[in-house]
Amino acid sequence: MTHITHWINGALSTQKSDRHGDIYNPATGQVTGSVDFASAATVDVAVQAATKAFTEWRHSSLTKRVQVLFAFRELVHVNKEKIAALITAEHGKVLSDAAGEVTRGLEVVEFACGIPHLLKGGFSEAVSTGVDVYSIRQPLGPVAIISPFNFPAMVPMWFFPVAIACGNSVVLKPSEKDPSAAMFMAQLWKEAGLPDGVFNVVHGDKEAVDALLTHPGIKSVSFVGSTPIARYVYETGTKAGKRIQALGGAKNHMVVLPDADLNLAADAAINAGFGSAGERCMAISALVAVEPIADELVAKIKERMATLKTGDGTKGADMGPLVTLVHRDKVASYVEAGEKEGATLVVDGRNVKVDGDGFFLGPTLFDNVKPSMSIYKDEIFGPVLSVLRVKSYDEALKLVNDHPYGNGTAIFTNDGGAARRYQNEVEVGMVGINVPIPVPMSYYSFGGWKNSLFGDTHAHGTEGVHFFTRGKVVTSRWLDPSHGGINLGFPQNT
Ligand code: NAD
Repeated sequence: MTHITHWINGALSTQKSDRHGDIYNPATGQVTGSVDFASAATVDVAVQAATKAFTEWRHSSLTKRVQVLFAFRELVHVNKEKIAALITAEHGKVLSDAAGEVTRGLEVVEFACGIPHLLKGGFSEAVSTGVDVYSIRQPLGPVAIISPFNFPAMVPMWFFPVAIACGNSVVLKPSEKDPSAAMFMAQLWKEAGLPDGVFNVVHGDKEAVDALLTHPGIKSVSFVGSTPIARYVYETGTKAGKRIQALGGAKNHMVVLPDADLNLAADAAINAGFGSAGERCMAISALVAVEPIADELVAKIKERMATLKTGDGTKGADMGPLVTLVHRDKVASYVEAGEKEGATLVVDGRNVKVDGDGFFLGPTLFDNVKPSMSIYKDEIFGPVLSVLRVKSYDEALKLVNDHPYGNGTAIFTNDGGAARRYQNEVEVGMVGINVPIPVPMSYYSFGGWKNSLFGDTHAHGTEGVHFFTRGKVVTSRWLDPSHGGINLGFPQNT
């Protein structure tokens, strides 16, 4: 049994915890450890450590910061398999998927290594006689990051490399369901030479989150999780005067036009619908087939689903378990609801057989889904793909734009003009053209629209640098040395 506690000021915390959570291996259903839950007092100790460390770290040279970032990048790179194993043991996703999320997180570390260039300000010489104006960007102070269970390494890495590169200190509260990856990365920061207290980890639930949202020492909060909590974090944090970016849930649509390559679209639907058991905020959960191709597309997807192996993510399966038994049962209840509401159940994942007590549910496919059904309206966050049949591009676009979520979407077509129109007209933050999961590269910014993001600023890229810094503009007047004062021997300015 492992016991996980907080990481404060470069060491495991000695704070006592009255409350704990169980950590499960979702593939076996067994409890494998426990995690301490932080009280407001423990959060305060972490914020104090971050505040103290900030006073020095904000003055560290850009050269020093980059050296630490490069060292951290190298350490994460060589330890990728170890981090992936920690993720699979607590989250359940297959090992290749876990290694993939570490790679995507690393790309943000690599982006942050370019911080000297990213922090360059502007300079206007001689806006008036002897007067120059320039802009600089300065760190905020201690910042909080609150992350979800589904990407325990990548989502924290959307934020903390950029925050630290900009000169801030960090208190991370990872998901209590899979806290080990964050702890491992904390040790790697120390090994990389990051001063103690610049990166801290507290574990816990609402109590720890509330303490971070209202602590006067915390200057900003980067949250990722479900929409109701994202909205709560945004409202509570902004009321406390903090800068907030709160990324919420999703219901991502994939529109397939009649001219699309249907084999490409079917492969994409499999990967984007069932990868990581559908527990991705960029998973495709609604496939909008523009007639007359629906019959053929559904047949192709069904055929491919028969080859998918559901099982333990360490043993060569294509799809692992869901994160908890409660979540598995919630997803299964949506399958029941879909049937009751009259959708056609093409493949029923409840029939999947895996030995042991793991939290498994097989890939599930519904056809003839209608916009009024709960399987379409709600984020299910499991391996359930719904096919909606429409008659035209306009009908497909209206469906996507009417949906309250707006995280990601994809269009499959061979018509460049149609794709171009979709990218222009769709009200969604991230768009793929013949690409089902259009997660932006680290040097662009990640974020959805509508109920998928509360706040103005997306994650990483230049928006991330802006989020973690405050702009300052300096207007300076230096009189010409010939003007007077100490005579330095300059000739009279004519
Ligand atoms: P969650 O909202 O349950 O938890 C997210 C974080 O909030 C965790 O750290 C958790 O401890 C904390 N939390 C939970 N309940 C809380 C409460 N009542 N008050 C305060 N804090 C609370 O989300 P999850 O189940 O861990 O993650 C899945 C969700 O995250 C899905 O909805 C998914 O779409 C979303 N997600 C979104 C993105 C994105 O980029 N938009 C990325 C990944 C995941």
